[in-house]
Amino acid sequence: MKRNQRTELIVLQSEKNGENHKLVSMFTEKFGLVRALAFGASGSKSPMRAATSPFCLSDGELYHDPVKDLWRITHLNGKNLYDGIRGNLKKFYIVSFLAEVVLKTYGGGDERVYQLFTKTLLLIDKAINDCDVDRLLILYLWRYLWMNGVLPDLKGCSICGKEIFLQDPIYYKGDGLFCCGGCRSRSFLELNHGAKEYLYNTSTMTYEEALPVFLDAEALSNIKKCFILIVQALVEYPLKTLESGRSFIF
Ligand SMILES: [Zn+2]
Repeated sequence: MKRNQRTELIVLQSEKNGENHKLVSMFTEKFGLVRALAFGASGSKSPMRAATSPFCLSDGELYHDPVKDLWRITHLNGKNLYDGIRGNLKKFYIVSFLAEVVLKTYGGGDERVYQLFTKTLLLIDKAINDCDVDRLLILYLWRYLWMNGVLPDLKGCSICGKEIFLQDPIYYKGDGLFCCGGCRSRSFLELNHGAKEYLYNTSTMTYEEALPVFLDAEALSNIKKCFILIVQALVEYPLKTLESGRSFIF
């Protein structure tokens, strides 16, 4: 592999390293997740200071040492700082949650996840109300679970095996599994007919097509909780952003 690489990338996490350097975790278009050192990027006059902040989208030049498998950022050309995400706590915590999931699942195991992730951030940044932010979250998670091959089965009961028809509600029992009305406990979250229909109808749509599709507030809230719990079960240990941003994400 060539030592100098160019790729579009988005910063997921950034921490101070030594005197005035930064260790940056990035989602890159060409190489998936990369952790790279940005020399001097903590310095107040560094041209890389802003572009190494979380959720900045840039065209980057990276240097890779194949012997030590170390990455260094040599130049970033910032394309979008996503001020709409930075200036809104709900957007910020939801994007932080999505970033943490990408980090904990090693980039999501599918090259299409990068495009899906950057597209989602672009639309969350521009979203004009909380409802659209929540819709984008569930549209993203549904596609993310599908790309990971762990989309839950909404057509059969995981306990008794009975087929569940579209018009019947389904209940989330934990561990990424659903069951029928006859097998549920009272604490299980319900996805009703409207919620299921919304998921099926929007699954092949673009975000722009899916956003105006009607979904009532309770169904939206239940889908969101279910999907977050499914993702949490997938990652297998507590996601920090669900703790710190609980009141903004749920
Ligand atoms: Zn059942």
